[in-house]
Amino acid sequence: MSSASSSVRCVLHRATPTFPLISFPECGRVVKKGTSRTTEHPGWIYYKCKKHGFGCNFWKWEMEYVEYLLDEKYIRGPDAVEALGWAQDRREELELRKEEDKLTTVSPKELKKNMLIEAVKELLLLLKIVLAMLFMVFAMVVILVLKK
Ligand SMILES: [Zn+2]
Repeated sequence: MSSASSSVRCVLHRATPTFPLISFPECGRVVKKGTSRTTEHPGWIYYKCKKHGFGCNFWKWEMEYVEYLLDEKYIRGPDAVEALGWAQDRREELELRKEEDKLTTVSPKELKKNMLIEAVKELLLLLKIVLAMLFMVFAMVVILVLKK
């Protein structure tokens, strides 16, 4: 393993361990893996029961699902330690990325403000040009008047 691959940064590029898709004991349906597309959790993996929303409430983010697998002994021994470590690193990375996104994304309100500032700046520039032109015309008139 190279030194770079040990950093948290690379967790997302590390091969994803495959976690067993269990059939949920309470309803017997097999759990389904999905990817979140919400702005709050973009790309987050979740596991839910196929009957979720239809009488079953099994729905967990990846880390909670791994914890569940461990608690229920679906994964044991060294595999369990590895799986939980991976899931925790991944969660940490996702949380970190979320914080970074928050810092870099400009809110629509701010964007509107920036656009307004730009518009005012352009208006001021236009006003300066008009004033300069008026001054030149005035100067020319003065020169013409003095020549007479
Ligand atoms: Zn279910």
